[in-house]
Amino acid sequence: MTTRIAVTGAAGRMGKILIEATVKADNTELTAALVRPGSSLVGADAGELAGVGKLGVTLVDNLADVIDTFDAIIDFTTPAATLENAALCARHGKVMVIGTTGFSDTEKDALLAYQSQIPLCLAANYSTGVNLCFKLLETAARVMAADSDIEIVEAHHRHKVDSPSGTALRMGEVIAETTGRDLKKVAVYGREGISDARARDTIGFATVRGGDVVGEHTVMFLADGERVEITHKASSRLAFGNGAVRAAGWLLTQPPALYDMQDVLDLK
Ligand code: NAD
Repeated sequence: MTTRIAVTGAAGRMGKILIEATVKADNTELTAALVRPGSSLVGADAGELAGVGKLGVTLVDNLADVIDTFDAIIDFTTPAATLENAALCARHGKVMVIGTTGFSDTEKDALLAYQSQIPLCLAANYSTGVNLCFKLLETAARVMAADSDIEIVEAHHRHKVDSPSGTALRMGEVIAETTGRDLKKVAVYGREGISDARARDTIGFATVRGGDVVGEHTVMFLADGERVEITHKASSRLAFGNGAVRAAGWLLTQPPALYDMQDVLDLK
């Protein structure tokens, strides 16, 4: 069966990649592509925008206009846009693959409320490698956490507006959950000036922004006499796009609930 996919945020860095990944994947078809309301791109061809040649899919700026043309929507936009799309998708029974990051707690609660109506996949990072790293971090935290200081360093391109990255935060959550800590209490975001010596239970975050870095994350377990580092480096956004398209096909076989990429990859 062919999965009919809508990509929103089509003009964005990830949107263009998602169009490319949808076109390249087996058994998927791009049937709708959305740009922000009022965009001058409305009416243009989605394939030409994404550099994959004409697809005959016209860019639109109103999800309601194309709601009957797709089975799954892949949304890498902004928290506000994703929340609006989720309300409409829930009303029409459309599954959602959500890559947007930077939700406030209130926005996240509002989004998660839709899980009783439709299957939702929410992942801070759709790459297979990062999701493997989440799994490796559980093991590393179990073995190393009692005797080591844990620091997470991430780097992204100069345009990224939220920090630390959703992936870095998820890495911190995995470690906190595995070691029985509350990330909200133990996270330390950046350091400056004179402070007390580092408390063992804290998890430090450091952020680098610049250039065209697609996404790099290193988690350090720093013990006396040795240190373990788990590093992931994305060299192309296709790593996220391919994962998101895979998630869309998988999600269509699932009942309404909240899922993540660990579920899609059967890593739980
Ligand atoms: P971007 O700014 O290049 O693209 C976002 C696009 O969404 C823009 O083109 C914008 O015009 C569009 N948009 C905004 N409101 C819209 C609306 N109502 N309808 C349709 N389009 C709308 O950003 P990006 O680098 O593509 O990243 C987008 C989001 O995805 C960010 O939150 C980023 O952190 C996240 N991201 C997640 C992953 C992952 O694997 N989960 C990977 C990369 C990026």
